[in-house]
Amino acid sequence: MNRNSLNRYLTYKVRSGFAVLFFLTGCLALVFLSPQTALAAGFIFRLEIPHEPSFPNNAGTKLRSFGCFSAYDGTPLNCGFSLTVTGLKSPANDIANNGGHVHDANRPLVLNRGKLEYLADQDPARLSVRGTTLGTPPLIYAEVTHKLPEVSGKIETVATVTTPYGWVCAGGCFTRTSWRKIITYDVGIRGLVKLPGPLNTENPATAAGDYIKVRGGTDTHPEGSFGTPFALDALKNIAKKYKKARGRALSINDMSLPKGGLFDYRATWKPDHNTHRRGKDGDINQDGLRCLPDKDLREAIDAVIKPPSKGKTRLHCESGGRKHIDLEPF
Ligand SMILES: [Zn+2]
Ligand SMILES: [Zn+2]
Repeated sequence: MNRNSLNRYLTYKVRSGFAVLFFLTGCLALVFLSPQTALAAGFIFRLEIPHEPSFPNNAGTKLRSFGCFSAYDGTPLNCGFSLTVTGLKSPANDIANNGGHVHDANRPLVLNRGKLEYLADQDPARLSVRGTTLGTPPLIYAEVTHKLPEVSGKIETVATVTTPYGWVCAGGCFTRTSWRKIITYDVGIRGLVKLPGPLNTENPATAAGDYIKVRGGTDTHPEGSFGTPFALDALKNIAKKYKKARGRALSINDMSLPKGGLFDYRATWKPDHNTHRRGKDGDINQDGLRCLPDKDLREAIDAVIKPPSKGKTRLHCESGGRKHIDLEPF
């Protein structure tokens, strides 16, 4: 909300003899006024920094705190609140909003399709909680935990706070007795970059470049070639050395989605790829070559990125015989 308008409003009310400002620096504060009783309340909203989506059972959480206070004497007041996850930011078909998953049905909007958590929550709906700011047992702030999904994307939530009986909202109000805010969580890994070049079906044996990009499942995950700058540099250098040794381009399959997170290439919302979440690994198409051992590929990898330890390699065989390279330590 605009602080100037709040201050102007308060000044007007103070002059009118109704309110004294109770304000916590760094928090959003609104003021509720009761013309009948000449009392006032402030609503305080706190939002914490998002965590990145992570591995199963380790997804980040966000905490939200709601509080209502008398602007007259600072006494905590019992306001009602609700917090609801309403879905993806629109337009949901925009990859910047959906994280690269173009299959919306049953998308988990909180971890494991769980529910928001609030100590005194009585609402069985898994994507909505409601309660009162003083709660049971009495709390000064009602704290709501939102567990972030493993799937990246911009998730919208709506927070609503309603005044206790006899009090009215005096600034930044949604209605005379309520306050409302839509807040977007941008869930995802920051700073991933797309591996240059179009998807194609060139023959690796005759392709002009050091690598080609060949991926399936592009109807549900059109962009799956993202990685950290470090990982992309490593992959390009590996492809260059491999081309020199073998005389053929490296055929690169899935890396990570534009904002990382769960990469369910079968569009199941389940971890079809075990990793591929942080832009640090990539799969290599076999093109008739054996998965392991692939001496030329292994030597190219070892020359570009240090093996994790002597005798070990960053090249692995995945289920289905895919070659998989850990390009950057996790
Ligand atoms: Zn997906
Ligand atoms: Zn893989």
